[in-house]
Amino acid sequence: MAQGTFKAVLLEEAEGKVKASVQQLDDARLPAGEVTIRVAYSTLNYKDGMVLAGIGRLVRDYPHVPGIDLAGTVEASDSPDFKVGDEVLCTGYRLGEIHWGGYAQRARLPAKWLVKLPQGLSTKHAMAIGTAGFTAMQCVLGLEKHGLTPDGGEVLVTGATGGVGSVAVAILAKLGYTVVGSTGKDSEHDYLRSLGAASIIDRKELSEPSKRPLASERWAGAVDTVGSHTLANVLAAMKYGSSVAACGLAQGNDLPTTVIPFILRGVNLLGIDSVMCPMPLRQEIWSRLVRDLPAEKLDAATKIVPLAQVIEEGAKILKGGVRGRIVVDVNA
Ligand code: NDP
Repeated sequence: MAQGTFKAVLLEEAEGKVKASVQQLDDARLPAGEVTIRVAYSTLNYKDGMVLAGIGRLVRDYPHVPGIDLAGTVEASDSPDFKVGDEVLCTGYRLGEIHWGGYAQRARLPAKWLVKLPQGLSTKHAMAIGTAGFTAMQCVLGLEKHGLTPDGGEVLVTGATGGVGSVAVAILAKLGYTVVGSTGKDSEHDYLRSLGAASIIDRKELSEPSKRPLASERWAGAVDTVGSHTLANVLAAMKYGSSVAACGLAQGNDLPTTVIPFILRGVNLLGIDSVMCPMPLRQEIWSRLVRDLPAEKLDAATKIVPLAQVIEEGAKILKGGVRGRIVVDVNA
């Protein structure tokens, strides 16, 4: 990295269209913040795909550096909490949306957004987890706190081959749950089994409009990354008193259901937001990730790409075409 400049993906808007390119930027363009970080790795999440494509009005001001996650080393700090040389990570807080993000060799952030790299994780592994893996663990914690135990029966993960889904399958399997993955990808059944799924169902079984408000009780718990008709069908088949952790909208942001599963079966719908997750819960999630996500499963679910390639991978993730996690090596 040249002194005083850094390489970054820059989004520019012209005539209502957003264009992404890799550019060399001057340090003076970095936003305000107490801590300057030499970024090692970032990641690709579904939301990054939306930002790269300029959809969803997530970014209001251009030019913009995307990347909702980053991990690296502190280069300069005005905060007593971080010193030069500390390894840190950031996910959420609308990094990469309202603040310049991780698709860059250098970033400057408010200190209160930063987490010290948990012991036992490298910057690369932290980004293999990223927002998607963090959210998967947040879902599992939510289900545990609402009484889910491995002897309860089958736990469903929808969008199972995606980033959140893959990590959720691996964590739940490690914890001894009987995991059922729902996927639209016939070719990825072996992949899901290798992560620990006990069985697999075709996503079509869940994605059509539901005919009845209740179905036979099947799921002891569920992690839903898909929303819409899928979530409605999942709710209808939950066991009495069980919970669904809802975090995503890959099928849609609607929820065409009735109150029947809630009032006749006492089903709980747990809303999961990773972006503004409070710091104490954030710390708990990271320490549980170190303990409960097997490194070899994470490696098997991860592909590493150089900075420029994230632009084309971003288009793929919006079409459900990415398997597992993508780590972005911002220095390659
Ligand atoms: P991915 O694209 O990696 O995974 C989504 C998966 O959903 C796909 O791989 C596919 O899996 C499935 N899918 C895609 N399109 C459809 C469809 N039309 N109908 C049914 N299933 C579909 O994204 P992420 O894992 O990064 O994110 C998943 C969701 O979670 C996104 O909506 C994202 O915005 C949300 N999210 C929310 C967070 C929060 O804080 N609440 C944080 C992180 C993510 P398969 O082919 O296996 O079915």
